[in-house]
Formats: sequence, structure tokens, C-alpha cells
Amino acid sequence: MACNMGARDIETLVHPFTNLSKHRQTGPMILDHGKGIYLFDDAGKKYIDGLAGLWCTSLGFGNEELIEASTAQMRKLPFASMFTGKSHELAIELAEKLKEIAPGPASKVLFSSGGSDANDMQVKLTWYYNNARGLPKKKKIISRMRAYHGITVASGSLTGLPPVHADFDLPIGNVAHTSCPDFYRGAAPGETEEEFSARMARELDELIQREGPDTVACFIAEPIMGAGGVVIPPASYFPKIHDVLAAYDVRIVSDEVICGFGRTGNWFGSQSLGMKPSSISVAKAITSGYFPLGAITIEEPLYQAMIKESEKIGVFAHGFTYTGHPVGCAIALKTIEIYQRDRIVERVRKLAPLFAERVKRLGEHELVGNTRSLGLIGGVELVADRNAKRLFTPNKGVGMYCIGECQRLGLITRAIGDTIAICPPLIINEAEINELFDTLDAAIRSTEDWVTKNKHR
Ligand code: PMP
Repeated sequence: MACNMGARDIETLVHPFTNLSKHRQTGPMILDHGKGIYLFDDAGKKYIDGLAGLWCTSLGFGNEELIEASTAQMRKLPFASMFTGKSHELAIELAEKLKEIAPGPASKVLFSSGGSDANDMQVKLTWYYNNARGLPKKKKIISRMRAYHGITVASGSLTGLPPVHADFDLPIGNVAHTSCPDFYRGAAPGETEEEFSARMARELDELIQREGPDTVACFIAEPIMGAGGVVIPPASYFPKIHDVLAAYDVRIVSDEVICGFGRTGNWFGSQSLGMKPSSISVAKAITSGYFPLGAITIEEPLYQAMIKESEKIGVFAHGFTYTGHPVGCAIALKTIEIYQRDRIVERVRKLAPLFAERVKRLGEHELVGNTRSLGLIGGVELVADRNAKRLFTPNKGVGMYCIGECQRLGLITRAIGDTIAICPPLIINEAEINELFDTLDAAIRSTEDWVTKNKHR
């Protein structure tokens, strides 16, 4: 059965972010069901879900309240269009809830189906805004190298990862990338965090000057870069970046697609990292991954400009069939209700010291160059030489080998280059955190043996 399923997969599917030719040889991992923080494959093998699905299933699997909210809404109203002024109570309620909890000046909410299209809307609305304001030259969006903001034509352009651009003819125009605030990799010898942050801010300022200040419209950033390798900037980074941006009349977008809804020990990552956004993009944990839904908040001046522009054109000509999907809204409302009722933010803060201690302890391995964590997100960077911070050459596949070992030992997570990302469901408890890190520790030890045996250093 499993073998048959593998062959059928290879014959029918294209997998995202997968080496397609290798996949034809190795075949898929078939997941069958989940319970709490655990996943089970089609052979019944049990795994800890160390990446919360794909940074999203914060409430774990088999949450009966979410299933109930979903089925009840399916029966009542499984679809409702928001086009041409139609609405429904759950979209209104969810927008009210997001306005209540969102950081920054949220005046309105616009729904999407996920994170990429949320960020796509950020680009489009920034352009719309500046056309309405009579500033047609002010269109450039500044993102950062190694950022991940999605894969559509616009959001993929904001993403700062070369494989997302190569051969897709991205990035589009009007997008520029400034430096990545990776202190471990990017700091000059002897440079303090403060000096590093000041240099990052200076480099942003220089980029804006080169591009032309009156052409720069928006700055977008993840509070913690997730898919770029779990990069946690120094505490002084965002305040210094803000000092630069303040001079240029730009929108500041916090991409909260991974960091939102408690992950970092605050409701939103921007609150943990000292980022002061004009607007946020959310997705993933808004429904605990149980339904594809995203949203952006819109600040009042932008909304006023949208009214003005749509008067001129006759209509605000943007929207998806699934904008404000009632089943997604029902699940999101129940998810946020559970986060609030079960004090998920406090829970993350309570668990964070143990999580941080276990991440840090992995740094005792010769193979580990750097460890980092905040709240319940962490990264463990594997290196060939700790003293020189020297990376393995990519063809050694050390990160991938380690992930394979994790899987063999019963842990699913992800390697970004040779950085192992850890982002478990927020419902994880102390014993399960220890189980996760004991497994990862064993996988790193076994990877170390493999590296030595194969002389990969
Ligand atoms: N922004 C961030 C920070 C993300 O991590 C992701 C997805 N990993 C996206 C945007 C894109 O979201 P989606 O895959 O739902 O389009």
C-alpha cells in the first residue's frame, strides 16, 4: 500500500521546495494522521511535530473545538462572497478581534487565503496608496536578504532567497533588498551587537539614498526570519532601523506570518523585537493551520486614500473568491478564543526558559556553531569549523542528513541550509520539549559520527 502510494505520488504530484529529481528516487513521506504534537505516517510510525506543520499548527492536531467550529460553520454557511458589499457576521467579528489585538494603527482588515497573497496585497496597496496621494514615483519596497515573504510574483520578489528568484525571472522591479541582520554570520571581527545594528541601519540608509528617497514607499520585515534560517536580530536592530525609516515617509510592514499569535512570547513578534509597524500580515497560526486564511491590517490614512482612489475608478478592484471565507473565519475566531482562554502567550513565556536552555545545550556539540531562540522558535546552525564559523559546502548535505536522522528517530523538522529549525506547536508541554530535544540531540550526535566517518570537514 505504502509503496503503491509512493509510486502514485511520483506519477502525479509536484512538491514545493523539494529536489524533484531526487524525489523520483526517494519518494514521499506519507503522513496519515496527527494527535496533539504528534504525527503518524502510513506505517503507523510516530513523530514529534517539531515544526508545527509548517510553522502553523500552534494548537496541534485533533483539536475537537476547531473541528466543531469548522463543521458547524460548514453546515450553516460554507461559503459567502465579500464582493460587491456583501458580508457575514464572522468576517466582521474576526476583523474586530484582529483590530483589538494587532500592534500598530489598525483601522481596517482585508482577508487573504494565506501569507504570500497577504504580502502581495501589501505591495499592491502601497502602490495604490501612493497613486492616490499623487506620488506615482514612490513605489519601491525594501525587503532584506534571506527574508521569506512568500512565492507569488510580488511576494516572491520580496523574498530574499536566491532559489526563489532563479529561473523564475524574479525579482520584479521596484523591489530592493538590504542586509540581513544575522549577527552570528554577519558581524565583523570584534563588532558589538550595538555596532552591528548601527551598521545595518547605515546600510539601509545608503540603499535608500542610492534608490532615491522619494521613490521608496515601504519597508517589510519578519520580526524573526523563519525560512531564511531562524535569524533573530539583536535587540538594538529594529529601533535603529526605525530611526532611519522615520526620515523617509515609508510604510513599515511587519510580516507576522510565523511570529504572530504568541510564538515569540508576545501576541506578535514585532512586540518582542521592538518593531513598530504601520501594518501587519498574518496567516498560518491564525487558524492553527486548520484552514488557509491570511489577513492584513490597514492604517487609516491608507484607507482614506483607498476610498478616494476607488471613487475615482468606481470600485476597489481587488479581492479573492475566498476573501473572508466563513469557515476560515469560524476557525480563526475559535483559535484566537482558545489562545486567549488558555493564556497561550503566558504559556509560551513559561516554557521559553526550558526551550532556550535545551536549544543552548545543543551548542556543546562540536558540529554546532550557533544556537538561538526566542519564545518557542529556535535555530541550531551546523558548521564544519566552530572557531572559524566555517560552513560545510552545500553538496555535503549535512543539514539534510541530520533531518533524516531526526526522522529516523521520530522527529520531524526542517533544515534551512545547515540550520535546523525548531518551531513546535504552542501546546507542547515540558516533558514533550525534553523529548523533542533529546531526539534532536541524538540526531546531531549521529550526524557528527557520519561527518567524521565520511571526512566531510
Ligand atoms: N511570510 C512568512 C514570514 C512566511 O514564513 C511564509 C510561509 N512560510 C509566508 C509569508 C508565505 O505564506 P504562504 O505559504 O501561506 O503563502
